[in-house]
Amino acid sequence: MQSDIVYDVAVIGGGASGLTVAIIAKQRGLKAVIIERSDRIGRKILVSGNGRCNLMGDGDIISKYNTLDIKEIFSVVTIDNIKSFFYDLGVYLKLDNGRYYPYSDQSSTVLTAFKNKVDALNIDLKLSTNVLQIKDSQPFCLHTSNGCVFATNVVLATGSSAHMGQDSLDLYKSYNHHVRPFKPALAPLITDTAHIRGLKGVKIRAGATIVLDNIPLATRVGDILFKDNGVSGSLALELSSILVRHAHSNAEIYIDFMPGIDGDELDLALKIALNGLFHKEIVANILKRAKNPSEIKKLIKKYPIKITGIASSDLAQVMSGGLLLNEFNLSTLESKLQSKLYAVGEVLDVDGECGGYNLMWAWASGIVVGNALSRQM
Ligand SMILES: Cc1cc2nc3c(=O)[nH]c(=O)nc-3n(C[C@H](O)[C@H](O)[C@H](O)COP(=O)(O)OP(=O)(O)OC[C@H]3O[C@@H](n4cnc5c(N)ncnc54)[C@H](O)[C@@H]3O)c2cc1C
Repeated sequence: MQSDIVYDVAVIGGGASGLTVAIIAKQRGLKAVIIERSDRIGRKILVSGNGRCNLMGDGDIISKYNTLDIKEIFSVVTIDNIKSFFYDLGVYLKLDNGRYYPYSDQSSTVLTAFKNKVDALNIDLKLSTNVLQIKDSQPFCLHTSNGCVFATNVVLATGSSAHMGQDSLDLYKSYNHHVRPFKPALAPLITDTAHIRGLKGVKIRAGATIVLDNIPLATRVGDILFKDNGVSGSLALELSSILVRHAHSNAEIYIDFMPGIDGDELDLALKIALNGLFHKEIVANILKRAKNPSEIKKLIKKYPIKITGIASSDLAQVMSGGLLLNEFNLSTLESKLQSKLYAVGEVLDVDGECGGYNLMWAWASGIVVGNALSRQM
C-alpha cells in the first residue's frame, strides 16, 4: 500500500474522537485519512450506553473528570457546539435525566451517521491497518501493517485498552511523551465474597459510599448488580472511576439499601415488613450478619463490604491514564514536544464519570483539534 500522497492530516484510530477530527478537517478542505487497525470504525460507539449511546452529560461538567485541566477545552467547546456537530451529522439528541442520547435511543443511529458522513465527504479510510511506528516529522511517515502513509499532521486517536481495545502508547515513545500507565476505570469492583454470598444476579437501586482508610471518599446512588466476586452496575462502575485515582489497599464499599429514607420513616418501614423490603437473599445476608436486632437497621443503611480490587481492562468501559496532558497545548491539543502532532480522546490522561462524560471528552477534544488543524493550514 505504499503511496506517494502526503495527506494534510492522518488520524490514527477510527473511534469517536478520531472520526470527529477527520470530519471537521475534511469539511474545512484538508486532505484527511483515517487509519484503523480493526475492520470497522466506531466499535465502542456501538456498544456504548448499553446500546443507547449516552453521548454527553449535562450540568457541572468540569467536576466529572479526573483533572481540572480540561476546563480550557470546555470553555471553548460547549454543549451547544457538540449538539450542533451532531445536528450536522443528522443525529437529533434528547436529554433524559441529565444525560444526552440520540433521539432513537440506538447507538447504531450515531454510528451510521458517522459512516454516512465519512462516505459523503470522501474521507480516505484504511481499515485493518495497524500503525506500528511513527517516524520523522516533515512529513511524518507512518509505518503500518500495510505499508507507509505520509502526512503533514498526525492525530493520535488510539483510545485505550479498555474492553479489548489496543494499548498503542508505545507509538509515542519516539517523541519522548510521558504516560501514566492505563488502569481500569468504570469497571466492576472485586470484593470480599463472605458477605455477598447468594446475591449473584440480584440487581437493586441503592446508595453506596466508598470509604478509604475509614474516610468517606464519594457517595452515589444508582443501580448495583451483585456478582459472584463483587459488584457491578452503574453505581459500582462510577465509584470505581473515583477509587482508581487513589491507592486503594484499604477500601470498603458501604451499601445503603434504602437511600433517602431515614429516621421515623425507616423505623416504620422496618416495623411493618423487613422481609417485604428487599430481595430475600439480601434479607438473609443482613439477618445472618447482624449480631443483635439493633444492628439490623445499621446494616440496612451501611452494609460494609471490603474491596479487594477493580476488575481487569476487558471488563472496563474506560481506562484511567494515558498521555500526560501537560505535554500538550491545552488550546489546540498539539504536542509541546513535537509540532504538528496532536492527541484526542481516551489516549490522553483524561477520564470521566458515568453519564456520557467520556464520549463528551472524545467529541470535545476532536472538535478542538479539527478546528486547530483548519486554522493552521
Ligand atoms: C461497553 C462500553 C460502554 C460505554 N458506554 C459509554 C457511554 O454510554 N457514554 C460515554 O460517555 N462513554 C462510554 N464508554 C466510553 C467511550 O466509548 C470511550 O471513552 C470512547 O469511545 C473513546 O473514544 P476514542 O476515540 O478516544 O477511542 P476508541 O473509541 O477506543 O477508538 C480508538 C480506535 O483506535 C484504534 N487503534 C488503536 N491503536 C491503533 C493503531 N496502532 N493503529 C490503528 N488503529 C488503532 C482502535 O482500534 C479504535 O478503533 C463506553 C465504553 C465501553 C467499552
